[in-house]
Amino acid sequence: KQAEENLLRSPICCIMGHVDAGKTKLLDFVRGTNVQEGEAGFITQQIGATYFPAENIRERTKELKADAKLKVPGLLVIDTPGHESFTNLRSRGSGLCDIAILVVDIMDGLKPQTIESLKLLKMRNTEFIIALNKVDRLYGWKTCRNAPIVKAMKQQSKDVQNEFNMKLRQIVTQFMEQGLNTELYYKNREMGETFNMVPTSAISGEGIPDLLLLLVQWTQKTMVEKLTFSNKVQCTVLEVKVIEGHGMTIDVVLVNGVIHEGDQIGPIVTTIRALLTPHPMKELRVKGTYLHHKEIKAAQGIKITAQGLEHAIAGTGLYVVGIDADLEDVKEVAMEDMKSVMSRIDKSGEGVYVQASTLGSLEAFLEYLKSSDVCIPVSGIGIGPVHKKDVMKVSVMLEKKKEYGTILAFDVKVTPEARELAAELGVKIFIDDVIYRLFDQFKAYICNLKE
Ligand code: GDP
Ligand code: MG
Repeated sequence: KQAEENLLRSPICCIMGHVDAGKTKLLDFVRGTNVQEGEAGFITQQIGATYFPAENIRERTKELKADAKLKVPGLLVIDTPGHESFTNLRSRGSGLCDIAILVVDIMDGLKPQTIESLKLLKMRNTEFIIALNKVDRLYGWKTCRNAPIVKAMKQQSKDVQNEFNMKLRQIVTQFMEQGLNTELYYKNREMGETFNMVPTSAISGEGIPDLLLLLVQWTQKTMVEKLTFSNKVQCTVLEVKVIEGHGMTIDVVLVNGVIHEGDQIGPIVTTIRALLTPHPMKELRVKGTYLHHKEIKAAQGIKITAQGLEHAIAGTGLYVVGIDADLEDVKEVAMEDMKSVMSRIDKSGEGVYVQASTLGSLEAFLEYLKSSDVCIPVSGIGIGPVHKKDVMKVSVMLEKKKEYGTILAFDVKVTPEARELAAELGVKIFIDDVIYRLFDQFKAYICNLKE
């Protein structure tokens, strides 16, 4: 049995969609119900991710009578559904996420951010399943808690079914306009060509069993090669931050391989001091302390402590030196990660400053700027919070061209000191965690200046 379990690693899933579509609620629901029941297959909250063991998924999908075997050990869901850009994170050239859930509010249909998410998914060639969320909001919906969607649908009145079908047709048409064929998953005869939709409710749980099962079955059926466990370490940095008592740490997702305490890592050359994960749910009240591990096997979310981590860059790969590469190779691969982004900087030296949370989000934002109809040159980039030194750097631009004395802060915090200094020097800072909104803010600002 052990050997079989080693065959495949857990697929990694992220959640995307428009603001208020229900991304957070959906994850909370999937996670929450079982925390209370505390039974079959312990869900563990990891660093930046939640792990659902196969046993848990089997238990929750048994009504669907899926006789097909679950071959993956579980499912790792990236926890930060607000960050669209997580889909844009890479791990050794391919996407960090094996599959995504694109959440659409069934009452609202496609919105700008849904379309933005679609573009990111296409760019990275990431598979996805569409959740048509909030079915419980259809007028007259009869709650069937945690029921498979076909069963729940049968309980509904003709009026509810008609309204559902009408909304469904509208959304199918909207996806068609984006060049995508979609169909309810249980009616889909061309899986792969036609994208699957699962109606869900993040409030009462209808369709959640379907969503979970489809995620697992789809990944283990179509991604065997990608999901085959390998000893080659594949690891992506999610976040770089200071933790009291641990100093500078990095939060990573270990996609494949095994990582050990004491491993030498790069491109920031250092040695892993500690591998940390939170305590299991039951012990969540043990506050501020982490579990230490000698080694951790993929796929998992991990916090790593080591010297020199302040130079790590969120969104780039982490490599183990000696096992799968020598130091020079590691540095070269790491440079590749940065190249596409660096090439976007305007040679003239004039342009706005873009600061983003991760390399992936920076890339996504620069991509968006490039594809827009208004030409906005970029003179500098940064990853992580906006500090005073960034404001200083940007302030020199004010003399060249006032509108370029601007920081576009995508999905990052601005320190109070930086804010103060910016106000003093006249540097504009625009902040948003939605690409098009940030862009629109800046566009409105330049239009105003021109008048
Ligand atoms: P996010 O911005 O996509 O993360 O959306 P949230 O998860 O924060 O949800 C936005 C709002 O919609 C909240 O008030 C939720 O309670 C509500 N909501 C989310 N999912 C559902 C659902 O399935 N049914 C209903 N009725 N409300 C929902
Ligand atoms: Mg949210």
